[in-house]
Amino acid sequence: MFDCIIRNGNIIDGTGKPPFVADIAIKDETISLIGRGLEGTEGNEIDAAGLVVAPGFIDIHSHSDLSLFFQPDAQSKIRQGVTTEVVGNCGVSCAPVRAQYREALLRQFEANNFTMTVSEKAKWDWPSQMAFLNDLVQKGISSNLIPLIGGMTLRIASAGTNVTLTSQELAGIKELLNEELRAGVWGLSSGLYYIPESHFKREELIELCGVIRENNAIWAVHMRDEGQRLFAAVDEVIDIAHQSTVSLQISHLKLEGKSNWGRAAELLARLDRARAEGVDVHWDQYPYTAYGSGLIDAIPPAWRAQGVDQVLSRASDRQFSDSLRQAMLHGTETWRSPLEEIQIEKIIVTEVKNDLEYAGKTIGELAATWQREPVDAILRLLITQEGSVKVVVPAMSEQDVEVIMQHPATMISSDGKAVSPQGRYARLHPHPRYYGAFPRVLGRYARGKGILDLNEAIRKMTSLPASRLGLKDRGMIAKGQAADIVIFNPQTVMDRATFQQPCRFPQGIEYVLVNGDVVIKKGGHTGRYPGRLLKRH
Ligand SMILES: [Zn+2]
Repeated sequence: MFDCIIRNGNIIDGTGKPPFVADIAIKDETISLIGRGLEGTEGNEIDAAGLVVAPGFIDIHSHSDLSLFFQPDAQSKIRQGVTTEVVGNCGVSCAPVRAQYREALLRQFEANNFTMTVSEKAKWDWPSQMAFLNDLVQKGISSNLIPLIGGMTLRIASAGTNVTLTSQELAGIKELLNEELRAGVWGLSSGLYYIPESHFKREELIELCGVIRENNAIWAVHMRDEGQRLFAAVDEVIDIAHQSTVSLQISHLKLEGKSNWGRAAELLARLDRARAEGVDVHWDQYPYTAYGSGLIDAIPPAWRAQGVDQVLSRASDRQFSDSLRQAMLHGTETWRSPLEEIQIEKIIVTEVKNDLEYAGKTIGELAATWQREPVDAILRLLITQEGSVKVVVPAMSEQDVEVIMQHPATMISSDGKAVSPQGRYARLHPHPRYYGAFPRVLGRYARGKGILDLNEAIRKMTSLPASRLGLKDRGMIAKGQAADIVIFNPQTVMDRATFQQPCRFPQGIEYVLVNGDVVIKKGGHTGRYPGRLLKRH
């Protein structure tokens, strides 16, 4: 007797093969039989005639660990068909926390717009990533989680925000990394663009990669630069991966800034050359021409080394603010400003610490209201929000997005958090990828533009990330696989979240099953939370 039968769906199995019509029977949370005319269930029967039945999507680059802890029922991911999220990305994980550097870590979270109340902060003391995520999952979540460990969090746990590491501090980071990997974490994530990980030297990263390799895990990297110095940043991570023979996952591959536009083929050729030379490198992409980040990135890192508040408190000094504005607009000798080569007025404010009415406004609109130059509006915003402002920045070309998407090694990711139009995140005006990344690839790029076929699009969301991670029992529709399944209408599936109205669930995602349990039914949430924490090994 089966627990559930999904009937007559067009099965796209995740391997890239064309669809076939069959029934799927589920028993004990796994796919137990695939065939025609299956009989014998007392449980659910789902009529999937005319719909696509695919493996649940694996979001290889997610930040939901920063949101689900406070609101475990946040639904923006599960409603896209995402059944497994890889969390702890860009160097940021919520644990381990060490008492000595606890304050420094909390300050860093704040700089990442991960805001907490005083009493929430007071409880922040998990000794390991697994301890933190076990507590999170116990509250009940919709999707499964696959943890990475964040390099920023490890570095702060061992060395605070020190610019240089002593050999003892580096040994401390390696030891923590080893412990986390042995406890079941799937890899290290690095955020080399951000302080304090930007201080990591090449030799130190090679040491960390040695620990990753010994544990047969992966290295996911937000590179040092994604704009004018992108190609040098790519060379750096490829060289490190080559030398240390580690599996490299480049996070959210993109070409920022006008001078890079049209160079996607050149970038992919560089990566293909590395692959031909034996470097084990893949990458992921979110399907948009704007990125999301902290506005604080517009202040040169060297200037905020002593703390954000220090820089901002001096901004009223005329001479100081003149040179600060210069640096923000044109960069410095050693640093590229993210404000170069973009239209500053078009930046959209998405999250703020204090004045919620600014969320959703553009820098251009705020500058007009305040009768200031855009760069001064940015400074005023940073000062009034105590440095904590998240923004969406239009910076990539559509053509480059499409060229990258078509490469066989490209996976689809959201780079977003699970959030919700209700509850704690109701006032958020996030990047639309939080709500729409996966249906957008299916609807806009596969069906609409025809730049990749549906079987290939689904492979990039399922078996490809699974094989990358070494996740053996998910990512395909096959006997014995976990019953993580998405059922969608191929004629209507589409994102509805826009930059103006980002908090809109997609259309056409009819059913989502996680570990055999129906979480989305005819487009609505069933109130079931079967998501698990998945350990490596
Ligand atoms: Zn990142």
